[in-house]
Amino acid sequence: MKIPASVDSADGAKEMENRRMGDYAKALGAKLRAIRQQQGLSLHGVEQKSGGRWKAVVVGSYERGDRAVTVQKLAELADFYGVPVVELLPEGRVPSGAEPATKIVINLERLQQLPAEKVGPLARYAATIQSQRGDYNGKVLSIRTEDLRSLAIIYDMTPGELTEQLIDWGVLPPEARPSKED
Ligand code: C2E
Ligand code: C2E
Repeated sequence: MKIPASVDSADGAKEMENRRMGDYAKALGAKLRAIRQQQGLSLHGVEQKSGGRWKAVVVGSYERGDRAVTVQKLAELADFYGVPVVELLPEGRVPSGAEPATKIVINLERLQQLPAEKVGPLARYAATIQSQRGDYNGKVLSIRTEDLRSLAIIYDMTPGELTEQLIDWGVLPPEARPSKED
């Protein structure tokens, strides 16, 4: 009996999707194994160190790609290894391609209005520079372009991504985004 074309192609698509998921699970597993090995831990070491929270056999099956890991579990594993969850993903960080600002003029009034859990490190950085300069009068603070690189490390972003974030927060004006001619 001839199989209708639509069923045939649906099965084909499903099979391709399964293969793609399998490849992803394997790539994710390889990443998990690499992080564990970087930390000098055996699978049993993971079980011991986690007080039995992470069973060697389960982590081993994640690493082989035999067992699917949920997002929740992945976040907990990242926490256990002390790495950002993005480090566990096969593609790792995807750089946004955003360009860093070449002129950084921080809006200090806006900075004060934002919650400390977001802007705490930046606010402390700006306060340190103000104190080094002995200058507390301005509504804005110009800082060195190299400071953007230091701040980007603190925020675990690229300088370009941090530029976008600061514009988003209203701490930098949109004009801080470099034009293509810059
Ligand atoms: P420093 O780097 O030895 O700079 C000494 C002085 O040179 C500064 O004193 C300032 O009068 C002048 N100066 C240096 N670079 C520039 C610049 O790009 N533009 C202008 N207009 N003047 C500049 P100041 O302002 O009292 O700063 C004292 C110290 O505080 C600096 O010593 C530096 O260690 C630190 N500092 C001040 N502002 C910044 C900043 O934006 N970023 C960083 N990373 N450090 C800063
Ligand atoms: P700005 O004063 O207009 O300086 C523009 C750029 O010229 C600086 O960019 C830096 O590359 C160079 N420059 C100016 N003065 C000096 C200096 O004394 N020593 C050296 N090594 N380079 C100098 P940069 O570093 O990205 O700084 C951007 C802006 O941040 C500066 O614009 C200034 O408004 C502020 N700034 C940076 N460092 C200091 C500082 O130490 N003290 C004060 N008061 N302002 C600073």
